[in-house]
Amino acid sequence: MQDEFDVVVIGAGAAGLAAAARLSRAALSVVVLEGQGRIGGRAHTLAARSDLPLDLGCGWLHSADRNPLAALFSRAGIALDRTPPAWSRPETNQNLSPDERVAFTAAMRDFEAALDQAARSGQESRAVAHLPPSAGRWTPMLEAFSAYYNGAPLSQVSVQDYGAFQDTGVDWRALDGYGAAICSLAPRALIVPHCAVLSIDHGGPRLRLETARGAITAKAAVLTVSSALIAQEAIRIHPRLPAKVDAATGLPLGQADKVFLRPSAPEVFPRESHLWGATDKAATGSYYLRPLGRPVIECYFGGDHARALSAEGPGAATALAIDELVAHYGADVRGQLQPLAETRWGDDPWALGAYSHALPGCAAARRALAEPVDGRLFFAGEATSSRSFSTAHGAWESGLRAADEALEALGLRES
Ligand SMILES: Cc1cc2nc3c(=O)[nH]c(=O)nc-3n(C[C@H](O)[C@H](O)[C@H](O)COP(=O)(O)OP(=O)(O)OC[C@H]3O[C@@H](n4cnc5c(N)ncnc54)[C@H](O)[C@@H]3O)c2cc1C
Repeated sequence: MQDEFDVVVIGAGAAGLAAAARLSRAALSVVVLEGQGRIGGRAHTLAARSDLPLDLGCGWLHSADRNPLAALFSRAGIALDRTPPAWSRPETNQNLSPDERVAFTAAMRDFEAALDQAARSGQESRAVAHLPPSAGRWTPMLEAFSAYYNGAPLSQVSVQDYGAFQDTGVDWRALDGYGAAICSLAPRALIVPHCAVLSIDHGGPRLRLETARGAITAKAAVLTVSSALIAQEAIRIHPRLPAKVDAATGLPLGQADKVFLRPSAPEVFPRESHLWGATDKAATGSYYLRPLGRPVIECYFGGDHARALSAEGPGAATALAIDELVAHYGADVRGQLQPLAETRWGDDPWALGAYSHALPGCAAARRALAEPVDGRLFFAGEATSSRSFSTAHGAWESGLRAADEALEALGLRES
């Protein structure tokens, strides 16, 4: 590896790949330093079997009708599926009666309306404060929803931040996996794997970076590591940037984990349908049965519950998923569910969690985290997106934004 560059991109997740793709079109020397041996970060498709791609991180192209990745995938010939998700179609739910579905949908709508109103009136409170009294019996499911959606309980979610998220409600899938599709867009020649950045010194005329493969210097750097890693100062920055650490601390990564099970008798489980593990408690799984008709069940755990399962160690989430499925489909299915994969994103040292949420009072932290420093340190990553945070396309867009900032600071235009 040479030791002088114009721009160093730190991290080869969705944000870093987007930044690198844009920077690579300018007359610049660019390198992407990635700590792991693989690219994609939280966009990670595991090819457990060639016919069964498993998205361990992002799986849904949210806001697909305006998601820039959807257009890029289509241009690259990557196959997309446009079937609306089972969790957005109450009629596919397996364990609520028709009356209960109507009542839960109404409780959810009331809750969203209360949050919207609070966000619009400038309140910066905890989302839990806006649970309508009518929520009653549905409160545990609304908490479970927050655990999956925010990766955190409603008490830790800023109303302003929640209200700022923009989503068109259109969700698609990449047939061979969202993670694989994102990685297929990577400018591979620029990427150096197994090259963790350990420190950045921005005290001198050029940036000086200590990496796992030696020291390099650069005119500018685009930092895309997760907010949890910035909050922990996992990369030592000299002189320190306390405002960045504060901003990142206000944007912790929630927890979300997946378990994949392969049923040997798939027909027991209706295809493209959804099941709540329980409807009377928040500490439960969400089950996507046979997505795309495939012989797999994708089990989702979120928030404090996912954190507790992860702390129990490998296999705990898988065991609970099987127990909850047995409770619905009978003891016979116990021996028929083959575990394929289980994630523990909170223990992944390259992420330390799943996706960011703003703590109450910290909605402004996203802009603060995104702000460049001295025209040569630029910040990207899902947590820096003000409207599409916690998503892969938000990360991608943030990488393009940071690359444009760097190009402008260097007096260059995209060719
Ligand atoms: C379980 C789960 C489900 C999800 N579902 C969806 C979904 O359906 N749809 C959606 O849009 N989003 C979803 N997401 C969120 C989405 O995956 C992330 O928002 C997005 O991938 C984050 O990209 P990023 O580039 O900001 O960060 P990352 O993907 O974390 O990339 C950062 C990169 O930096 C690297 N790195 C870290 N430290 C260093 C260092 N010191 N030196 C060099 N490199 C370093 C990491 O290895 C990583 O590759 C999900 C995430 C999870 C975990």
